[in-house]
Parts: sequence; C-alpha cells; structure tokens
Amino acid sequence: MARRGSLASGVMAEPTPPTPSTGWIEVIVGSMYSGKTEELIRRLRRAQIARQRVEIFKPAIDDRYATDAIVSHSELRIPSRAVRRARDILRYAHEAQVIGIDEGQFFGRELVDVVERLAKRGKRVIVAGLDQDYRARPFEPMPELLAVAEYITKTLAICMVCGAPANRTYRKLKRGGRVVVGGADLYEARCRRCFELGRRVRSRAPLVPDSGGSHASSRARARVRGARPRRPAARRMR
Ligand code: ADP
Ligand code: MG
Ligand code: ZN
Repeated sequence: MARRGSLASGVMAEPTPPTPSTGWIEVIVGSMYSGKTEELIRRLRRAQIARQRVEIFKPAIDDRYATDAIVSHSELRIPSRAVRRARDILRYAHEAQVIGIDEGQFFGRELVDVVERLAKRGKRVIVAGLDQDYRARPFEPMPELLAVAEYITKTLAICMVCGAPANRTYRKLKRGGRVVVGGADLYEARCRRCFELGRRVRSRAPLVPDSGGSHASSRARARVRGARPRRPAARRMR
C-alpha cells in the first residue's frame, strides 16, 4: 500500500515527495485543539533532525504569550519568528529548505502568493491554520491554500459534548466582534451536530491541572468544573 496518505499505522501520514529537488506546499487544517500545531512541530523537528535548514514563522498579531516560539495546547514548542505580514517571510527564507508557518488564517490572502513563490524556489512549505471560523465559514486564506497545495492534512479534535470527531470551533460566549482572543474559556471543539445545537447542549468540564506534577498527570487528576485552564492560550477567531 502506498505510504503517502495512509493512516494505517495510526501515525499521521507525512508526504513523501517524488522529486527531492522540487518545492511543494503542505497544508494542515482543522478546528481549534485538533492538533495542527502538534503536527506542524512534528514535521519541522524531523526536518531539523535531518539537518535541513528550517525557518519557522507565526503572525505577530498576539505578543501576550510566547513571541519567539510556536506552542501547542499540549505545550510542545519550537522556536519561531513572529512576522507582521506574510511578505516578511520572504526576507528570512532565502537560505531555508523547509519553511513552517502556523496560524496561517491570520496572514490574509498575501500568504497564498508568498507560499507559492517559496515553493517555486524549491522549498518545502508547511502551513497550519484554521479552515473555518467560529461560525463554520471558510477562514481565508486557508481555502485557497488547500486549492494550491500538493498535500493536505485535515486534523480533527474530539467533541467536548459527545466525544465524536470534532471539525468545528464553538465560541461559548456570545461576545465580541469578528476577532476575539480566548482559549478553553471561550472556545471548544465540537462535532457538526453539537455545534448546531449550540447552547442547548453543555460540554463536559475541561480538565484543569493543579500546581504540582507533570502537565499530563495533573490534568488527569484535576477535573474542576468551570475553572480556567492553566495556560490561557491566546487564540484569535473571527
Ligand atoms: P491546534 O493547533 O489544532 O489548535 P494543538 O496542536 O495546539 O491544536 O493542540 C492539540 C492538543 O490539544 C491535543 O493533543 C490535546 O492535548 C489538546 N486538546 C484540548 N482539547 C481537545 C479536544 N477537544 N480534542 C482533542 N485534543 C484536545
Ligand atoms: Mg495551533
Ligand atoms: Zn458532539
């Protein structure tokens, strides 16, 4: 069976390019908490281990938390450069063989042109981002990137209400405008059905770590209804 695209091993399939000399685009999309950033970090770490020249970027829209690293909700992290505009990536990417970009939805349409130019120059470009906003509408420019990418990975979270595969990001509080910063206090992953049901269904209380012990074990111990998570992950949604 072809390795590419196969999930038989249980591990996320990683593109195996047919021609090493050509550039290409990989896109990782899904809801919040679906593991986009984890998957991006996994691919970038493997490239670094193989001594490839890797440059990693994220949008400089939110500097309240780590400005110098991409951090997943499971607290994996990898150093990155914060840039204001997509075209700034071109300035720092000359020497890179592999380019990672997180939160692609915040770069706007300029990102499509930038990513295409990089791939044309022979680079492997990996972009992660939300494919839908909190109303489940396509979140530009990720739909365009899906169209031009060679490889697409769609990640799913687990619905916080019923446990089904979750494709959508539900905003729990009806407040704010198009972009609202928030973490688990404001957003949760939901399946299609529970997303539509909205406030008519309630999620299970999030796991909240206590002060001691490892992140994973303390999370498993402490289940506190209504409490805020330790890491107030900054995320912006439209
Ligand atoms: P994304 O970048 O897609 O927002 P991350 O890679 O940052 O996601 O985080 C994925 C991690 O989020 C999971 O490994 C898990 O630890 C955590 N998580 C929190 N809520 C959920 C959920 N509802 N379903 C799955 N994972 C979740
Ligand atoms: Mg992420
Ligand atoms: Zn559900």
